[in-house]
Amino acid sequence: MTDLNPNSEMDSLAADLTVVRDFLDRAEPPEELSSNEREALLAQTKELMAKKNAKLVAHYYTDPLVQDLAEDTDGFVGDSLEMARFGRDSNADVLIVAGVKFMGESAKILNPEKTVIMPTLEATCSLDIACPIDEFSAFCDANPERKVVVYANTSAAVKARSDWVVTSSIALEVVEHLMSKGEKILWAPDKHLGSYIQKTTGADMLLWNAACIVHEEFKSRGLGDMLQMYPDAAVLAHPESPSSVLEIADVVGSTTQIINAAKSVPNKEIIVATDKGIFHKLQQVAPDKNFIIAPTAGNDATCRSCAHCPWMAMNSLQSMLNSLVNTSNEIYVEPKLAQQAMVPLQRMLDFASKNRLQVKGKA
Ligand code: SF4
Repeated sequence: MTDLNPNSEMDSLAADLTVVRDFLDRAEPPEELSSNEREALLAQTKELMAKKNAKLVAHYYTDPLVQDLAEDTDGFVGDSLEMARFGRDSNADVLIVAGVKFMGESAKILNPEKTVIMPTLEATCSLDIACPIDEFSAFCDANPERKVVVYANTSAAVKARSDWVVTSSIALEVVEHLMSKGEKILWAPDKHLGSYIQKTTGADMLLWNAACIVHEEFKSRGLGDMLQMYPDAAVLAHPESPSSVLEIADVVGSTTQIINAAKSVPNKEIIVATDKGIFHKLQQVAPDKNFIIAPTAGNDATCRSCAHCPWMAMNSLQSMLNSLVNTSNEIYVEPKLAQQAMVPLQRMLDFASKNRLQVKGKA
């Protein structure tokens, strides 16, 4: 349960982790494949994708094999909304979304006429879990004077209850826009991203109390020690990381902004505070640089998520093939709810087009 009292953060976080752990217990890591097994799975999947006119859209945090398969088959690798928009513009009959559940839902909301399937329906997100619709709705009802701005990492029901949906790269601009109109904001669900935006913009923001289990584990003390080993390194951090980590970072940004910064910063060594799945793309765009994962609490801490999302990891080649064979794990969003969720999603897309902003971000 999420405690709505911002003064009792530790209690509410502890309670949230109990719920999150229930989901984590079901997050089985994929089995290791031999190279023969891998090649056979890839060949079968490609054949079936062609037969069913299916396209694969994968998140940056998924297995490099899945990312490569998406690009090899004219699919797409990116963030959740870009994945959904790619699907909307594609002439595929079936979209295979390799990511977590809210991404499948966003894809379905933006592509209601297409069949959207996922390798597994068990892949979820700690931010989504920690923002259940009933409690969130009560929170909104208790603060009717505030504009409700939610991060993309939420259920369709939470999106439907909001005024705006944002991704990490457009959140600052949307909040500044609302501020300029004298609006106060109710922000959910990521407290670190919300706090970063609040500090940067000075906006009046009431924050929901949830965190990403991956970014939450990056530690500033370890990062300071690491910088002593690599004094010339640049630090790139996603704003879902704790504020003490963001204060040390040279660049704070969404996945796409991190990828762009990796190319543009002059440093040869780069410490990265986000899911290590992104290293596949980083090494492609800046092969001459040395990327180092920022330190976390380690495997003996509370997380099974140290720098890698266990739910993203569930998107294996085998599970993808299984869902494709029977067109199973289909995503369904109740049409009325989808229409309601589409309103704040479309508001963000229109805002981005009008302001010539790219709607890219993390999950
Ligand atoms: S990395 Fe964090 S924000 Fe992204 S899906 Fe996993 S738990 Fe959610």
